[in-house]
Amino acid sequence: MNIELVTIGDELLLGLTVDTNAVWLARELSQMGVAIVRRATCGDDADDIASAVNDALVRTGAVITTGGLGPTADDKTKVAVAKLFDRQLEFHEPSWERIREIWRTRGRSGEVPESNKQQVMLPSGADILTNRHGTAPGMMLRDAHGRWVAMLPGVPREMRGLFNDELGPRIRALVPGAVFPILTRTVRTTGIAESTLADLLVTHTSALKGLSLAYLPGQEGVDLRLTSRGRSADESDRVLAEGAVVLCAVASDHAYGTDDDDLAAVALNGCRAAGYHIAVGESCTGGMLGQRLTAVPGSSDVFLGGVIAYDNAVKITALGVAASLIELHGAVSAEVAVAMARGACERFGAEVGVGITGVAGPGGGSAEKPVGLVHIAVQVAGEVTTRGGQLIGDRAEVRFRATQLALDLIRRALSVSRAPAS
Ligand code: AMP
Ligand code: MG
Repeated sequence: MNIELVTIGDELLLGLTVDTNAVWLARELSQMGVAIVRRATCGDDADDIASAVNDALVRTGAVITTGGLGPTADDKTKVAVAKLFDRQLEFHEPSWERIREIWRTRGRSGEVPESNKQQVMLPSGADILTNRHGTAPGMMLRDAHGRWVAMLPGVPREMRGLFNDELGPRIRALVPGAVFPILTRTVRTTGIAESTLADLLVTHTSALKGLSLAYLPGQEGVDLRLTSRGRSADESDRVLAEGAVVLCAVASDHAYGTDDDDLAAVALNGCRAAGYHIAVGESCTGGMLGQRLTAVPGSSDVFLGGVIAYDNAVKITALGVAASLIELHGAVSAEVAVAMARGACERFGAEVGVGITGVAGPGGGSAEKPVGLVHIAVQVAGEVTTRGGQLIGDRAEVRFRATQLALDLIRRALSVSRAPAS
């Protein structure tokens, strides 16, 4: 079953409000095996609303709107859609009683404002969706061809409540036969380009058994997301699991997890499995690596602590980096990163130490050491690996990517490192 969604409100077009209703509804409906095939957003203008809803009705015949059901003059959805369906607005007594009841139970004094009467003027023949979460009732209009429009309020909490209580069950009843939820599985990769993955995967598409594959690049790496439609939940789970195995094999050591797996948790798990502890020495990331590691629940058995060694004097005093090393190679150098990692291990008594130094920008770059240059070192049980590179993005992105690279180095170092020395 296909549905179109029209979200309504000037604030959405102005970018003042993020359209979370569209996201939430898409997720709920996909669980029910219903696809949102198109989304439109329009302002609080009756003609615009009517034209957006009419286009969607003609194309798909099933439309959900959110917004524009409030008691004020800028709320025009109902009027516009009633006109489309050639219905009159009629005073709906039960809804009025509900509003008076809400008014009383909220302890408001006096009579309900006249403007609320506007909310209970409902199109004749509408299926009323009772709102237990606020004053604006939702409604559903059907025409002689079975095409329908369901109108939900814009306030997210009320919209969700009305969908769960009233609209969701009605839509479920409209879906013929078994429900085929739209399910996904994501394989998370890092340190490999989207185009490289695409080239590697070209010869494997038939092994994906008709699953659709999306490449989702971001600061953490490229996520490969498989989507299954038109299968039972069990069948989807099986096919998605097989597909994920194919993707993991192709991405090989660049794949670090699935779905919501976080690289920090993966790195911590690796340390935990080896019986190791982590300490960090961070310059340009200013504690972000420690923050990401400690954000993982249960990190305290693995993460010992760290030094924000921003100033060279702190690198020297708190991490024992030799002043001569900084003079010779500069603070942003592989040599200093290694010394920071060693210093972190020694000062904290950790088996795994990380050193990060770089130029986060926007200032402070030079021809030799441009903005985005980062050096990272990871020492695992005495053995050091380093990675230096030019990271892209603004200051925030360079800093985040540096932590991601450091976590990836930990993960990789652990999978090849020796057993802990006894
Ligand atoms: P309305 O039902 O149009 O009076 O909307 C009431 C409030 O709900 C607005 O002021 C917004 O803050 C919020 N809202 C409306 N539409 C959306 C949407 N699509 N996503 C998130 N919030 C919304
Ligand atoms: Mg509005």
